Amino acid sequence: MVLKKVKFLAKEAALRLKYMTNKDCIFCKIVSGEVRSNIVYEAKRVIAFPDINPIAATHILIVPKKHIESAVGFQKADTEDVMALFGAAKKLVDKNSLDAYRLAFNGGKFQHVPHLHMHLVAGKKIEWSKL
Ligand code: 5GP
Ligand code: ZN
Repeated sequence: MVLKKVKFLAKEAALRLKYMTNKDCIFCKIVSGEVRSNIVYEAKRVIAFPDINPIAATHILIVPKKHIESAVGFQKADTEDVMALFGAAKKLVDKNSLDAYRLAFNGGKFQHVPHLHMHLVAGKKIEWSKL
């Protein structure tokens, strides 16, 4: 039983490492497991984890495992990875029973991490100026 679990975790780690296409990118490091994060959702093409500096009670980052630079900088070949962000958002909205939420992408000088990510934010008070 334990061996099975260890084998499963090793396989997952190897897969994630494969996705780490930019070794200097913090989100690639989270994807590969090099930097630890509390992963709240994972699917074939995406992971999601809480923002380190939340602007609301719920602030989750939904990130493609593939290093795609921005919401306006993706290729046709990345379509499924981008679509997967929305699939993950739906799962998280349902899982957290969110009845009011916002999905956002930053770009240009507003984007601080150059690895595509969707912000899922919800809560009575949202400090938008920090996003
Ligand atoms: P952006 O401004 O690029 O749209 O948002 C990047 C977000 O990533 C910020 O809200 C920031 O707090 C978050 N962030 C940056 N580094 C880390 C990290 O190492 N871990 C986590 N969980 N979030 C991070
Ligand atoms: Zn990256």
